[in-house]
Amino acid sequence: MRLPKLRELKEAITALIKGPYTSKFPKEQHKPHPNFRGQPKFNEEKCVGCLACEEVCPVGAIAHKDIVDKKGHSWRVMIHYTDICIFCGQCEAVCIAGGEGIKQSSDWELSFFDRKKESYETIDKELQLCEICGKPIACRDHLKWIAEKIGELAYSSPTLYLSRLRNLGIIDENIISALKDKGRSDRVKILCARCRRKTTLTTS
Ligand code: SF4
Ligand code: SF4
Repeated sequence: MRLPKLRELKEAITALIKGPYTSKFPKEQHKPHPNFRGQPKFNEEKCVGCLACEEVCPVGAIAHKDIVDKKGHSWRVMIHYTDICIFCGQCEAVCIAGGEGIKQSSDWELSFFDRKKESYETIDKELQLCEICGKPIACRDHLKWIAEKIGELAYSSPTLYLSRLRNLGIIDENIISALKDKGRSDRVKILCARCRRKTTLTTS
């Protein structure tokens, strides 16, 4: 008869004293290790909708959809597809909100009954539209983040300083809406890069 090795013998005795290494899932809820890095979750408050996480995700588990409704409301839906995520943590590592916009959790449970309806999580971020062409520029929180990051340099970009003033609620909307001559006054508007270039070149 082959005798067990000493290491195997030690493990067998330890298991006898401490109990089995495996958990009794699904009968008992499994508790992951405190350092387990599981499914990442968006934080709607902290995320600024910059899309850096979408750029780096190696499996395309993050996507977005920009929506503008008939009433002029606009928002960006950030989507995390939980069924294809590989928990690599790249999204958290590059998150410009200090890794707080999306963070790995201890959630490891990925089973669901309806894959189409349950295999993704979403958050909504308010979008800023160009005041000339009406196309999305960026999320409002992202413009705020950039303005705060570059400090007084934000005053070299009307898009940045006007969004900042609007956030602070110290902008007179009557003055802005009165500026409709499609000439020089268009420069003092929140514009996308294409309209900013057009406005600057045609009114200089
Ligand atoms: S953990 Fe990795 S695979 Fe999952 S969403 Fe983040 S970057 Fe993509
Ligand atoms: S702030 Fe972070 S979580 Fe939000 S879109 Fe940017 S990188 Fe992704």
